[in-house]
Amino acid sequence: MADNATLLARRERLLGRNMSTFYNDPVQLVRGEGVWLWDADGRKYLDCYNNVPHVGHCHPRVVDAITRQASTLNTHTRYLHEGILDYVERLTATFDASLDTAIMTCTGSEANDIALRMAQAVTGKTGVIATDHTYHGNTAAVSQLSTRMPPVGGFGGHVRHVPAPDSYRPLGGAPGEDFAEAFAAEVEKAIVSLQDSPHGFSALIICPYFANEGFPDLPSGFLDKAIAAVRKAGGLVIADEVQPGFGRTGGHMWGHQRAGFVPDVVTLGKPMANGHPVGGVVANADTLNAFRKSFRYFNTFGGNPVSCAAALAVLDVIEDEGLMENARTVGAYAQDGLKRLSEKHGIIGDVRGSGLFFGAELVLDREQKTPAPDLATKVINDMRARGVLMGKIGIHQCATKIRPPMPFSKDNADLMLSTLDDVLSGL
Ligand code: PMP
Repeated sequence: MADNATLLARRERLLGRNMSTFYNDPVQLVRGEGVWLWDADGRKYLDCYNNVPHVGHCHPRVVDAITRQASTLNTHTRYLHEGILDYVERLTATFDASLDTAIMTCTGSEANDIALRMAQAVTGKTGVIATDHTYHGNTAAVSQLSTRMPPVGGFGGHVRHVPAPDSYRPLGGAPGEDFAEAFAAEVEKAIVSLQDSPHGFSALIICPYFANEGFPDLPSGFLDKAIAAVRKAGGLVIADEVQPGFGRTGGHMWGHQRAGFVPDVVTLGKPMANGHPVGGVVANADTLNAFRKSFRYFNTFGGNPVSCAAALAVLDVIEDEGLMENARTVGAYAQDGLKRLSEKHGIIGDVRGSGLFFGAELVLDREQKTPAPDLATKVINDMRARGVLMGKIGIHQCATKIRPPMPFSKDNADLMLSTLDDVLSGL
């Protein structure tokens, strides 16, 4: 195996500059199994970060489904095949009855791109509202929504950003009803601004768990007023479930179910086929048909038999191995552990999350809640040095992001917590 320095030099030469890597000392991974990863030197890491290998790295049932279908047939969706129909039937059965049809894609970005065009097809307008600090993907259209990577030339006039909810520092200063109303007021202001523009208002797009914004602790119903304002203005609500979907947050299969609302369009990606590139858009048949009428759409790879076999195997494993319930119990256990650590380590300002998507916001002082992004970077690098992989995220980039494969156990949580205890003690 080549050493890291050689691989970094080859990456820059072959893939270009500015391709990011995780950690000051990047990890060269060569193998994965369940919640474990191994590097080129044979060192084992506990994966507390990766949500794409949703049911565990290299899960044998997913590998088997891919292998069997790949050795039988793989082709596009202009031929008839039962695979895509079996999958969409199973998938849509997990949603509200109004969300009854789907388009299969290869990425979450494509799914969000389609969702925006669905809203345009239904409303005849193009103005979109997104939260600041969000990320919805990398196409020309959806990168307009992501303040994390502002497009060259700035945002289009059709985009309005509203402040992402931050439960640790709530808008207007107060939690509860006032906070929800303050958020809804921002959405209403953005709607009016778009209605007064040549673009008009077509949709609000949000991650119902506000994952990239630092997964704020919001009560069910928090979004009700904002959503009512969108509907009153004739707009669509798009729920980006790329991160919270497929049972990750524990009690619910979908983030919007946890948040207590039914969206008009749902977009899917990342964990959908355990690493095989599969995404999708779920909507009511009327919405989907309006899109197909306005935009001729075909996706060469989306919905191919191998992708659908992999995605179906993921749904089977979630169910058969009780992974949603596991996310609920192990996630609660791990969060309790983090709360205990916060009694010992003043740097932990807030502990929040749901199921197997949680973390601690790190601050310089609890009184002022001063974000500690540099220390958060040090913590995740020190964790990596001790064999535990996690990330950081959030409005202030100081929340640890713990989002492991779903078979994560209480023993795994104990190892993560004791390692974090050591790292925080050594700061
Ligand atoms: N939506 C959200 C919320 C995401 O986090 C991401 C990827 N991080 C995307 C969409 C884009 O998905 P993809 O990278 O598969 O295009």
